[in-house]
Amino acid sequence: MLIENFSNLNLSKDFLTNLDSLGYTKLTAIQQKSLPLSLNNSDLIAQAKTGSGKTVAFCIPIINKLNIKNFRIQSLIIAPTRELANQIALEIRKLSRHIHNLKVLTLCGGTPFKPQVLSLSHEAHIIVATPGRVLKHIEQNNIDLENITTLVLDEADKMLDMGFYDDIMQIIDTLPKNRQTLLFSATFEKNIERLASNVLKNPTIVKIENEE
Ligand code: ADP
Ligand code: MG
Repeated sequence: MLIENFSNLNLSKDFLTNLDSLGYTKLTAIQQKSLPLSLNNSDLIAQAKTGSGKTVAFCIPIINKLNIKNFRIQSLIIAPTRELANQIALEIRKLSRHIHNLKVLTLCGGTPFKPQVLSLSHEAHIIVATPGRVLKHIEQNNIDLENITTLVLDEADKMLDMGFYDDIMQIIDTLPKNRQTLLFSATFEKNIERLASNVLKNPTIVKIENEE
C-alpha cells in the first residue's frame, strides 16, 4: 500500500503545514516509493525521469533528520552543476521555512574560492556542492565532514558522464562510514551500479518507469 498524502508520513505538524503552504499535498510516484524508506534511514538508489520530484524526495528526509541545535555539517549533497546546486539549496530553504536558523551553504566551482573558505569558518548544517570544488576544500582542510549523517548524490548519471567518478570516490573516502546514502539518477546504467556498489550499504532500488 502506497502513501498518497504527505500528511500520512510521520512528519512534524509544522513541517506538514509548510509542505501544504508550498502546494505539496500528494506525493509524486517516486516520492511514494522512496520516502517511507529514506525516512527510515535506508540507503536508496532512486531512478525516475526529470521533473518527477526527486529533489523533494531527498530533501525531506534530510530536513526531518537534522539536529538544528548542532551547528555542524550533517548533510552533504553533491550535484553536477552550479545551477542545479543552487536550485537544490533554494528547495531546502523553502522546505525548511518552519525551522529557524537552518543554514545551507553552496560550494560550487565558477565562484570565488576565498569567500567560501570564510563561509565555512561559520556554522552550517547542510552543504550543497559540485564535486571538484568540495574536494578542493577537503584537500585544504577547510571543511569538517565528521558529523555527516546523510550523503546525497543527485543526477549521479550526469556526474559520471562528466567524468566525476574519481572525485566522488575521493570525497566519499573522507566521510563517516556510518551514514545514510541516497543516490538519485534519471537513468540506470552499468557505471551507476559500479558507483552504487562502492558507496551504498544494502540499498533498495526504487524505479519509476515512464508510463507510471
Ligand atoms: P527532478 O529532480 O525529478 O527532475 P524536481 O525535484 O526538480 O524533479 O521537481 C520538479 C517540480 O515538481 C518542481 O517544480 C517541484 O516543486 C515539483 N514537485 C515536487 N514534488 C511535488 C509534489 N509532491 N507535489 C507537487 N509538486 C511537486
Ligand atoms: Mg533532480
